[in-house]
Amino acid sequence: MRRKFIAGNWKMFNGPKASYDFMTKFVSLISSSKVITESISSSKLEVAIFAPAISLESCVRANVSSSVILGAENMYWEKQGAFTGEISAPMIKETGCTHVIIGHSERRHIFHETDSEVNKKVTAALAEGLTPVMCVGELLQDRENSKTFDVIATQVSEGIKGIDPLSVADNIIIAYEPVWAIGTGKTASSEDAEEVCASIRKLVAQLCGCACAEKIIILYGGSVKPENTASIMSQANIDGVLVGGASLKVDSFMSIIESSL
Ligand code: PEP
Repeated sequence: MRRKFIAGNWKMFNGPKASYDFMTKFVSLISSSKVITESISSSKLEVAIFAPAISLESCVRANVSSSVILGAENMYWEKQGAFTGEISAPMIKETGCTHVIIGHSERRHIFHETDSEVNKKVTAALAEGLTPVMCVGELLQDRENSKTFDVIATQVSEGIKGIDPLSVADNIIIAYEPVWAIGTGKTASSEDAEEVCASIRKLVAQLCGCACAEKIIILYGGSVKPENTASIMSQANIDGVLVGGASLKVDSFMSIIESSL
Protein backbone atom coordinates (compact mmCIF):
# COMPACT_ATOMS: atom_id res chain seq x y z
CA MET A 1 0.00 0.00 0.00
CA ARG A 2 1.53 3.32 -1.07
CA ARG A 3 1.61 6.23 1.39
CA LYS A 4 -0.41 9.36 0.67
CA PHE A 5 1.53 12.54 -0.02
CA ILE A 6 -0.28 15.86 0.41
CA ALA A 7 1.85 18.85 -0.47
CA GLY A 8 1.47 22.60 -0.64
CA ASN A 9 3.46 24.70 -3.10
CA TRP A 10 3.53 28.29 -1.92
CA LYS A 11 5.07 29.66 -5.14
CA MET A 12 6.25 33.30 -4.57
CA PHE A 13 4.07 33.85 -1.51
CA ASN A 14 4.97 33.92 2.20
CA GLY A 15 8.20 35.59 3.25
CA PRO A 16 10.04 34.42 6.40
CA LYS A 17 7.61 35.97 8.91
CA ALA A 18 4.39 34.87 7.16
CA SER A 19 5.91 31.39 6.74
CA TYR A 20 6.78 31.17 10.42
CA ASP A 21 3.29 32.25 11.44
CA PHE A 22 1.62 29.80 9.00
CA MET A 23 3.81 26.90 10.08
CA THR A 24 3.31 27.57 13.79
CA LYS A 25 -0.47 27.43 13.39
CA PHE A 26 -0.33 24.54 10.92
CA VAL A 27 1.95 22.32 13.03
CA SER A 28 -0.23 22.92 16.06
CA LEU A 29 -3.41 21.95 14.15
CA ILE A 30 -1.70 18.84 12.77
CA SER A 31 -0.54 17.83 16.26
CA SER A 32 -4.06 18.20 17.63
CA SER A 33 -5.62 15.99 14.94
CA LYS A 34 -5.53 12.38 16.08
CA VAL A 35 -6.33 10.95 12.66
CA ILE A 36 -3.60 12.98 10.94
CA THR A 37 -0.89 12.32 13.54
CA GLU A 38 -1.72 8.60 13.57
CA SER A 39 -1.58 8.45 9.78
CA ILE A 40 1.78 10.24 9.78
CA SER A 41 3.28 8.10 12.55
CA SER A 42 2.13 4.88 10.86
CA SER A 43 3.74 6.05 7.56
CA LYS A 44 0.41 6.10 5.76
CA LEU A 45 0.57 9.85 5.17
CA GLU A 46 3.17 12.50 4.46
CA VAL A 47 2.34 16.19 4.58
CA ALA A 48 4.72 18.62 2.91
CA ILE A 49 5.17 22.33 2.36
CA PHE A 50 7.33 23.70 -0.44
CA ALA A 51 8.27 27.26 0.43
CA PRO A 52 10.29 30.09 -1.14
CA ALA A 53 14.03 29.59 -0.53
CA ILE A 54 14.25 32.64 1.72
CA SER A 55 11.55 31.22 4.01
CA LEU A 56 12.88 27.68 4.41
CA GLU A 57 14.78 28.33 7.63
CA SER A 58 11.79 29.91 9.35
CA CYS A 59 9.63 26.97 8.24
CA VAL A 60 12.16 24.56 9.74
CA ARG A 61 12.25 26.59 12.99
CA ALA A 62 8.45 26.51 13.31
CA ASN A 63 8.18 22.80 12.48
CA VAL A 64 8.86 21.88 16.12
CA SER A 65 7.33 18.42 15.97
CA SER A 66 8.98 17.71 12.56
CA SER A 67 5.60 16.37 11.48
CA VAL A 68 5.72 18.30 8.21
CA ILE A 69 8.13 17.56 5.37
CA LEU A 70 9.75 20.74 4.09
CA GLY A 71 11.18 21.43 0.68
CA ALA A 72 12.34 24.07 -1.79
CA GLU A 73 10.51 25.00 -4.98
CA ASN A 74 13.50 24.82 -7.31
CA MET A 75 17.29 24.41 -7.31
CA TYR A 76 20.29 24.53 -9.64
CA TRP A 77 22.20 21.36 -10.49
CA GLU A 78 25.72 22.60 -9.58
CA LYS A 79 26.74 22.40 -5.93
CA GLN A 80 28.23 25.90 -5.85
CA GLY A 81 29.83 28.47 -8.12
CA ALA A 82 29.24 31.69 -10.03
CA PHE A 83 25.48 31.25 -10.59
CA THR A 84 24.02 34.44 -9.17
CA GLY A 85 20.57 34.06 -7.72
CA GLU A 86 20.53 30.26 -7.74
CA ILE A 87 20.47 27.85 -4.79
CA SER A 88 21.97 24.35 -4.72
CA ALA A 89 20.96 20.98 -3.31
CA PRO A 90 23.59 21.11 -0.49
CA MET A 91 22.23 24.55 0.51
CA ILE A 92 18.68 23.19 0.68
CA LYS A 93 19.89 20.26 2.73
CA GLU A 94 21.76 22.56 5.11
CA THR A 95 18.49 24.31 6.03
CA GLY A 96 17.10 20.96 7.21
CA CYS A 97 14.80 20.46 4.20
CA THR A 98 14.54 17.06 2.55
CA HIS A 99 12.56 17.62 -0.65
CA VAL A 100 12.60 19.88 -3.72
CA ILE A 101 10.14 20.54 -6.54
CA ILE A 102 11.77 20.22 -9.96
CA GLY A 103 10.32 21.27 -13.31
CA HIS A 104 7.15 22.93 -12.07
CA SER A 105 5.17 24.21 -15.05
CA GLU A 106 5.92 27.80 -14.03
CA ARG A 107 9.64 26.97 -14.23
CA ARG A 108 9.19 25.22 -17.57
CA HIS A 109 7.01 27.86 -19.20
CA ILE A 110 8.00 31.20 -17.60
CA PHE A 111 11.70 30.39 -17.15
CA HIS A 112 11.98 28.07 -20.17
CA GLU A 113 13.42 25.07 -18.32
CA THR A 114 13.97 22.10 -20.61
CA ASP A 115 13.59 18.36 -20.01
CA SER A 116 17.36 18.02 -20.01
CA GLU A 117 17.71 20.70 -17.30
CA VAL A 118 14.99 18.97 -15.30
CA ASN A 119 16.98 15.74 -15.60
CA LYS A 120 20.18 17.44 -14.37
CA LYS A 121 18.32 18.90 -11.41
CA VAL A 122 16.63 15.61 -10.49
CA THR A 123 20.00 13.83 -10.71
CA ALA A 124 21.73 16.47 -8.57
CA ALA A 125 18.94 16.43 -5.96
CA LEU A 126 19.17 12.64 -5.63
CA ALA A 127 22.97 12.77 -5.36
CA GLU A 128 22.52 15.03 -2.34
CA GLY A 129 19.88 12.78 -0.74
CA LEU A 130 16.97 15.12 -1.46
CA THR A 131 13.65 13.78 -2.75
CA PRO A 132 12.70 15.50 -6.00
CA VAL A 133 9.03 16.05 -6.80
CA MET A 134 9.31 16.09 -10.58
CA CYS A 135 6.40 17.89 -12.26
CA VAL A 136 5.10 17.06 -15.72
CA GLY A 137 2.09 18.36 -17.58
CA GLU A 138 0.67 19.20 -20.96
CA LEU A 139 -0.47 22.56 -22.35
CA LEU A 140 -4.09 23.09 -23.33
CA GLN A 141 -3.09 22.95 -26.99
CA ASP A 142 -1.38 19.57 -26.43
CA ARG A 143 -4.60 18.23 -24.93
CA GLU A 144 -6.72 19.66 -27.72
CA ASN A 145 -4.38 18.09 -30.30
CA SER A 146 -4.49 14.68 -28.55
CA LYS A 147 -0.80 15.01 -27.65
CA THR A 148 -1.19 14.66 -23.86
CA PHE A 149 0.19 11.13 -23.55
CA ASP A 150 3.15 11.83 -25.87
CA VAL A 151 4.09 15.02 -24.04
CA ILE A 152 3.87 13.33 -20.63
CA ALA A 153 5.82 10.27 -21.79
CA THR A 154 8.64 12.49 -23.09
CA GLN A 155 8.77 14.62 -19.95
CA VAL A 156 8.81 11.56 -17.67
CA SER A 157 11.33 9.51 -19.65
CA GLU A 158 13.70 12.46 -20.22
CA GLY A 159 13.34 13.56 -16.59
CA ILE A 160 14.41 10.20 -15.12
CA LYS A 161 16.95 9.37 -17.85
CA GLY A 162 20.10 7.70 -16.51
CA ILE A 163 18.70 7.30 -12.99
CA ASP A 164 18.87 3.92 -11.29
CA PRO A 165 15.35 2.33 -11.42
CA LEU A 166 15.36 1.57 -7.68
CA SER A 167 16.15 5.20 -6.96
CA VAL A 168 13.32 6.29 -9.26
CA ALA A 169 10.87 4.16 -7.30
CA ASP A 170 12.06 4.98 -3.80
CA ASN A 171 13.32 8.52 -4.08
CA ILE A 172 11.40 10.38 -6.79
CA ILE A 173 7.83 11.59 -6.64
CA ILE A 174 6.13 12.46 -9.92
CA ALA A 175 3.44 15.15 -10.01
CA TYR A 176 1.09 15.29 -12.98
CA GLU A 177 -0.02 18.89 -13.31
CA PRO A 178 -1.82 19.80 -16.53
CA VAL A 179 -0.67 23.35 -17.28
CA TRP A 180 -4.19 24.48 -18.17
CA ALA A 181 -5.42 23.50 -14.70
CA ILE A 182 -2.79 25.31 -12.62
CA GLY A 183 -4.04 28.45 -10.91
CA THR A 184 -6.96 28.68 -13.33
CA GLY A 185 -9.73 27.17 -11.23
CA LYS A 186 -10.15 24.48 -13.94
CA THR A 187 -9.52 21.02 -12.52
CA ALA A 188 -8.99 17.97 -14.70
CA SER A 189 -11.83 15.55 -14.04
CA SER A 190 -10.79 12.82 -11.62
CA GLU A 191 -11.10 10.31 -14.47
CA ASP A 192 -8.88 12.38 -16.82
CA ALA A 193 -6.30 12.84 -14.07
CA GLU A 194 -6.41 9.10 -13.32
CA GLU A 195 -5.97 8.21 -16.99
CA VAL A 196 -2.75 10.23 -17.22
CA CYS A 197 -1.42 9.09 -13.83
CA ALA A 198 -2.10 5.47 -14.84
CA SER A 199 -0.16 6.07 -18.08
CA ILE A 200 2.76 7.44 -16.05
CA ARG A 201 2.76 4.32 -13.85
CA LYS A 202 2.66 2.13 -16.96
CA LEU A 203 5.59 4.02 -18.45
CA VAL A 204 7.59 3.66 -15.22
CA ALA A 205 6.85 -0.10 -15.41
CA GLN A 206 8.27 -0.21 -18.94
CA LEU A 207 11.34 1.87 -18.05
CA CYS A 208 12.10 0.63 -14.53
CA GLY A 209 10.13 -2.57 -14.01
CA CYS A 210 6.76 -3.43 -12.48
CA ALA A 211 7.95 -3.45 -8.86
CA CYS A 212 9.21 0.12 -9.23
CA ALA A 213 5.97 1.23 -10.87
CA GLU A 214 3.98 -0.28 -8.00
CA LYS A 215 6.05 1.72 -5.51
CA ILE A 216 6.40 5.14 -7.08
CA ILE A 217 4.28 7.96 -5.64
CA ILE A 218 2.30 9.87 -8.27
CA LEU A 219 0.48 13.11 -7.46
CA TYR A 220 -2.12 15.20 -9.24
CA GLY A 221 -1.96 19.00 -9.13
CA GLY A 222 -4.10 21.72 -10.68
CA SER A 223 -6.74 23.74 -8.81
CA VAL A 224 -7.09 21.16 -6.03
CA LYS A 225 -9.47 22.41 -3.33
CA PRO A 226 -11.14 20.87 -0.28
CA GLU A 227 -14.25 20.12 -2.40
CA ASN A 228 -12.51 18.05 -5.09
CA THR A 229 -9.82 16.32 -3.02
CA ALA A 230 -11.78 13.20 -2.03
CA SER A 231 -12.79 12.45 -5.61
CA ILE A 232 -9.21 12.92 -6.90
CA MET A 233 -7.78 10.82 -4.06
CA SER A 234 -10.24 8.00 -4.73
CA GLN A 235 -8.44 7.19 -8.01
CA ALA A 236 -6.28 4.08 -8.05
CA ASN A 237 -3.15 5.66 -9.48
CA ILE A 238 -3.25 8.99 -7.66
CA ASP A 239 -1.38 8.86 -4.35
CA GLY A 240 -1.57 12.50 -3.39
CA VAL A 241 -2.00 16.09 -4.45
CA LEU A 242 0.25 19.08 -5.05
CA VAL A 243 -1.70 22.17 -4.06
CA GLY A 244 -0.89 25.77 -4.99
CA GLY A 245 -3.45 28.47 -4.13
CA ALA A 246 -5.45 26.42 -1.63
CA SER A 247 -2.30 25.68 0.43
CA LEU A 248 -1.84 29.36 1.30
CA LYS A 249 -4.61 29.33 3.90
CA VAL A 250 -4.07 27.02 6.86
CA ASP A 251 -7.75 26.12 7.10
CA SER A 252 -8.22 25.15 3.44
CA PHE A 253 -4.98 23.14 3.41
CA MET A 254 -6.05 21.35 6.60
CA SER A 255 -9.41 20.53 4.96
CA ILE A 256 -7.57 19.11 1.96
CA ILE A 257 -5.47 16.88 4.22
CA GLU A 258 -8.56 15.73 6.12
CA SER A 259 -10.46 15.03 2.87
CA SER A 260 -7.58 12.93 1.58
CA LEU A 261 -7.83 10.39 4.42
C1 PEP B 1 0.81 24.27 -8.20
O1 PEP B 1 1.31 25.32 -7.89
O2 PEP B 1 1.52 23.26 -8.32
C2 PEP B 1 -0.63 24.20 -8.44
C3 PEP B 1 -1.16 23.05 -8.80
O3 PEP B 1 -1.35 25.37 -8.26
P1 PEP B 1 -2.96 25.50 -8.06
O4 PEP B 1 -3.35 24.48 -7.03
O5 PEP B 1 -3.14 26.92 -7.57
O6 PEP B 1 -3.59 25.25 -9.38
